[in-house]
Amino acid sequence: MPAISKIAKEMKPSATLSLKEEVNSLEREYGFKIIDLTAGQPDTGPTEDVLEALSEGAKLSRYGPVQGDPELREILSGVINEEIGVRYDPQDIAITVGVKGGIDILMRVLLEPGESVGIITPFWVTYPESVTLAHGIPCFLESGEGLRPDLARLKKEVEDKNIKVLLYSSPSNPSGVVYTGDELGEIAKIVKEKDVWVISDEIYGRFVFNGRRHRSILSIEDMRSNTILVDGPSKRFGVPGWRLGYVAGPREVIKAVTKLQGHINSGTSRPAQYAMRVAYTSQKAKGATENMRKRYQKNRDIFVTGLNEIDGISCIKPEGAFYAFPCIDNFFGSKYEFAGKEHIIKTSVDFRNFLLRRAQVAGVEGAPFGMEGYIRFSLATTEENIASALNNIKGAVKELYL
Ligand code: PMP
Repeated sequence: MPAISKIAKEMKPSATLSLKEEVNSLEREYGFKIIDLTAGQPDTGPTEDVLEALSEGAKLSRYGPVQGDPELREILSGVINEEIGVRYDPQDIAITVGVKGGIDILMRVLLEPGESVGIITPFWVTYPESVTLAHGIPCFLESGEGLRPDLARLKKEVEDKNIKVLLYSSPSNPSGVVYTGDELGEIAKIVKEKDVWVISDEIYGRFVFNGRRHRSILSIEDMRSNTILVDGPSKRFGVPGWRLGYVAGPREVIKAVTKLQGHINSGTSRPAQYAMRVAYTSQKAKGATENMRKRYQKNRDIFVTGLNEIDGISCIKPEGAFYAFPCIDNFFGSKYEFAGKEHIIKTSVDFRNFLLRRAQVAGVEGAPFGMEGYIRFSLATTEENIASALNNIKGAVKELYL
């Protein structure tokens, strides 16, 4: 058989997918009922009015405009203005196949082979892979105290490593850190000085806790010419399976994204776009998002307080998104027994397996988020699941020995 490409051979599968296999096999083999805190998606779906619009949109069965439904882009222009105070002409917005699809195309639009993209750690697992797929080089920019961006280091590395694009999410997946106005201001200065692109992933922008407001780097003066906003409906309306997102940015970039989409996917699903017109203007849908936000904040309060009461675990308090990302490296070197065998915990994957086996709780190991020594739990579940998971983790950790 002739060879497949090196990139395809070397790319690791998504951590969450391989985890699913492990969960299924433990449930089958030992009859476990595992509490699944791996989900990167809300636990509730869209409101009735949005679902009805999807059925109605099914009539749109022919190809549509590659850049996306003009009426939806008009609506999004208003939403962006209302939420982050920046007015984009609908021509400067393109609808993409999820934020994931948007980032993938942006990398191809912005990068020459071998150019570097600075990714602030910890990061969403797909970021480095999207850079590699576009023949770019991911450069990891380590965060500092409290998993916040280390601005002095960032400044130095943007200069030293000749970074062309800076990529981050705020609110952050996996840490839940929400960048402050001051932090965004400093990042803006660094970026402007070296004329670097910023891709600002604001997909968790509606999930900010304790009455704080989501802020975008775009609200800083003069940042429009360097910034590309990526956002979408997956999280806020609970529709990740509909595969929609959007990018907004300088016209030349959006034109290029559209040109590439014309060859890659001919644009996105038209029924889903039609339903999004309703979602982004529906008071019901807005209310549902706000209910989710409140529930996830409550889950955060219960879970993170509980985790920090466990000897050996420390977790920063997420300010947004819907994940908890505790440090668990104190347990490296600890042992436990399972199925008549002794196991030793040396990595975040080992810790994740320990929790699966002894606590029947599934989280995602920190390594693919750029933080070995951590584990990510999703808070997008019921309060009951959160309480049981906490209880199980407490019990299991007590039984570890050296
Ligand atoms: N960005 C971040 C930070 C995410 O966590 C996710 C989904 N887990 C995405 C983008 C992708 O979302 P989608 O492609 O569904 O829009």
